[in-house]
Amino acid sequence: MSAWCVVYERYEPRLEGLREALCTLGNGTFATRGAAPDARADGVHYPGTYLAGGYDRARTVIHGREVENEDLVNLPNWLPLTFRCEGSEWFHVDAVEILEYRQELDLREGVLRRTVRFRDAGRRTTRWQESRLVSMAQPQLAALRVEIVPEDWEGPIEIRSGLDGGVVNDGVARYRELEGRHLDVLAAERIGPDRILVHTRTRQSRLEVAQVVRTRVYRGDTPLDPERGTEVRAGWIAELLRVHVGPGEPVRIEKVASLRTSRDRAISEAAAEASEAAAAAGGFAALLEEQRLAWRQLWDAFDLDLALTGDGAAGAQWKLRLHLFHLLQTVSPHSTDLDVGVPARGWHGEAYRGHVFWDELFIFPLLNLRMPSLTRALLQYRHRRLPEARRAARAAGFRGAMFPWQSGSNGREESQELHLNPASGRWLPDHSHLQRHIGAAIAYNVWQYHQVTDDRDFLHFHGAELILEIARFFASLSSYDTELDRYEIRGVMGPDEYHTADPGADPEHEGGLDNNAYTNVMAAWVLDRARDVLDILPDERCRHLRERLALGDDEVARWEEISRKLRLCFHGDGILSQFEGYEKLEEFDWRSYREKYGDIQRLDRILEAEGDTPNRYKASKQADVLMLFYLFSAEELEALFEQLGVPWDREFIPRNVAYYLDRTSHGSTLSRVAHAWVLARSDRAASWDLFEGALDSDVSDIQGGTTSEGIHVGAMAGTVDLLNRCYTGIEPRGNTLHFNPCLPRNVTRIHLRIRYRRHLLEIEVDHATLTIESRPVAAHPIAVAYRGQQRDLLPGRRCQFRLLTPTERARSTRAG
Ligand code: BGC
Repeated sequence: MSAWCVVYERYEPRLEGLREALCTLGNGTFATRGAAPDARADGVHYPGTYLAGGYDRARTVIHGREVENEDLVNLPNWLPLTFRCEGSEWFHVDAVEILEYRQELDLREGVLRRTVRFRDAGRRTTRWQESRLVSMAQPQLAALRVEIVPEDWEGPIEIRSGLDGGVVNDGVARYRELEGRHLDVLAAERIGPDRILVHTRTRQSRLEVAQVVRTRVYRGDTPLDPERGTEVRAGWIAELLRVHVGPGEPVRIEKVASLRTSRDRAISEAAAEASEAAAAAGGFAALLEEQRLAWRQLWDAFDLDLALTGDGAAGAQWKLRLHLFHLLQTVSPHSTDLDVGVPARGWHGEAYRGHVFWDELFIFPLLNLRMPSLTRALLQYRHRRLPEARRAARAAGFRGAMFPWQSGSNGREESQELHLNPASGRWLPDHSHLQRHIGAAIAYNVWQYHQVTDDRDFLHFHGAELILEIARFFASLSSYDTELDRYEIRGVMGPDEYHTADPGADPEHEGGLDNNAYTNVMAAWVLDRARDVLDILPDERCRHLRERLALGDDEVARWEEISRKLRLCFHGDGILSQFEGYEKLEEFDWRSYREKYGDIQRLDRILEAEGDTPNRYKASKQADVLMLFYLFSAEELEALFEQLGVPWDREFIPRNVAYYLDRTSHGSTLSRVAHAWVLARSDRAASWDLFEGALDSDVSDIQGGTTSEGIHVGAMAGTVDLLNRCYTGIEPRGNTLHFNPCLPRNVTRIHLRIRYRRHLLEIEVDHATLTIESRPVAAHPIAVAYRGQQRDLLPGRRCQFRLLTPTERARSTRAG
């Protein structure tokens, strides 16, 4: 591997699904898995093309109950391309003797290359050289170029270049009992001398998708004029082209695909536009030039440069780039024109059905400091769904906006009602929609965006309304206990999805727990920010908004009261209880389960299959209480605790980190990111280990099979953000950009470029010095600070801080 490439030197069918996900190409508008062009869904291969926000709902009767799920639809496959010699079978990678194989994902250029040198049943040796791209420059285009080089034979060949509309959603084994047919094929036809079309419509959401492919054949620079035929089957159409090849006469096939939908802007009709786009597109070389430029410009904004020593040094750089690469293929500058959120698994597969969760909390802070226009657009996805969130709150007997745990097309709750435990084969009720903390994540994201950008327009017209309505929801979710003189939030789930209900509850019906610490602290924080927002808004804007929301002084006063009196429970020696009653749970026997099962990341499934439940144990899937230390600095948290009137001491954070870390299985890829973060200052070596684990989440598919169903965008962005914000200690708070670097021992230098309040800052950190240089741009001075030393920074200037040595730092922390 180089720092810019992911390389596979052997074909390994058992890893093909994983590589298809990791080699997915996309541009924020659509994505295509890195499946071989000659492949169909067959257990080894799973071609998939997904449109950002391309959802459809379907019903299934399961377990005697009708359920409706909204899926990210697998669209017709534009890749099919193969050839055959006269009288032989079509080339298929699994049916030949492979002599050489190399697959290379070029992160710098956004190109996937594959070379297969093989011997077929007729003992002919051939080299197949393929490159493909999904255009970051023209988001409606993709292209595939294949060179067929006969080494020891010659003769006529037939090339088949197809469009497969016969696809269904079948990529996730545990969803297979659910309806996976989402498309009706409206047309599959030839529409020009070198173009074919497949026009489909989703069954329920009635989204029309038109795909056209144009196939041309060249020898060197000379276009050939092959004899062409058409093959049409149900939902499938292909062009058949006949040419002559020989050792000195390789051919090059260029397939350009266009994809247009009835939701696109500035179009007349999808099929006509797709046809036009495919006809007008340049050849592969021209598309590649544009692709290089588009990616170069993205890397200018996003790349980060590390100097590392020790084991794993070589891997970290390319893995971080791979993570940025997939983040940018999921959300790119093209997303700003769309109405999409960030799907937890990218547009790379069908896991979680393309839904949007709270994972944005791990993603937006990175985007804020690199391309804030993207966060702004993605937050609009939430704002547009505010009416639906209000409806949901009302229907559940609350006020304000209750955002769904899983969101898809229109912001309706898309969490499944039943889920399959593959370990037991049982369909089980799913209570995960009770994760009401999702609203706090949205409010947090709005506030962070505001801190970084000071984008008042956004706050005034969208952000403030989101925060106020979410605050109102949390206030109405809280109930007052007169005896305790505390507010409580009952019947919810925290981020730890192992704890869904009281151990004694009937799991079929009752879900939720009381006073989840994370939810309660976040609710207090949101209520505080709501009051800040009212202070920041210009008078008239504030009056208008309050009139529209009928937000009176009494209600605001009540928010203040609740924000001081939300209940937190403690147990043991100063341990913040994950929820009320946590201390009564049994300790879990980690050792014997590890011995028995090896991998116990998905303890919930193991226990359920044994007829047990994680609800009984002090065992968490992922950071829950510890999320608070991930999201807030110690100073912020201390202030929040003081406001809540609960005890705080210097050892509070390390004590709670040690307690919960010992009781967590990391069943979510987000968990290692959060834990690496919270350990960054107290145990740099342990933090780095967890960071490396998180870096391998997808590359090594550490959950054993989940990556092939889609990458984990939250963990990908989160690992980059560990270097971006955590180890540098970057914290946009108030009107100051704070720094507090604490590099892991083996990171000798980090160089990154961030945007902050219209400044473009070059940041260089090593173990001794922090240098911040602002590029010459038109902007007001900003305040930057290192551990309380504050300086004003003008565009075009630079400032430097000498960093405390670890001993000085420890001394100053003790003294402080
Ligand atoms: C995690 C959630 C996460 C979701 C999507 C689940 O396994 O528990 O926290 O939002 O995956 O990534």
